[in-house]
Amino acid sequence: MSSECLFCRLYTEGEHIRKADGFVAVKDINPRAETHLLVIPERHVETFRDVGEFRDDEAKRMLGFVAETAREVGLEDYRVVVNVGPGGGQTIFHLHWHILGGEMRGLPG
Ligand code: AMP
Ligand code: ZN
Repeated sequence: MSSECLFCRLYTEGEHIRKADGFVAVKDINPRAETHLLVIPERHVETFRDVGEFRDDEAKRMLGFVAETAREVGLEDYRVVVNVGPGGGQTIFHLHWHILGGEMRGLPG
């Protein structure tokens, strides 16, 4: 864990909607949709480009956690967004997944 990293800190200290197996879900502080959650893995990987740093089973569980989180908050139809690099709208360099449901107010990032 990097103490400099906001999402490493959110993983340990944040208000979690859901937590399991090295992943947490939190509400986005600046929601772009009626429901806007972030899934944050415990493992500090800077960007989706480096998703290969996850073990195969971890990567699979991460996707499962995203889908389960959406289901548990009652979403059937929704968007999953990952911003990759500054040009792709990424502002926090700890890989995370946006889950956006209901009415949207533009893209995150
Ligand atoms: P991205 O632009 O894809 O890197 O997404 C970063 C997201 O983190 C943005 O949607 C921010 O609104 C959100 N964010 C920043 N700080 C916090 C925080 N303390 N708690 C929850 N969400 C945050
Ligand atoms: Zn981090």
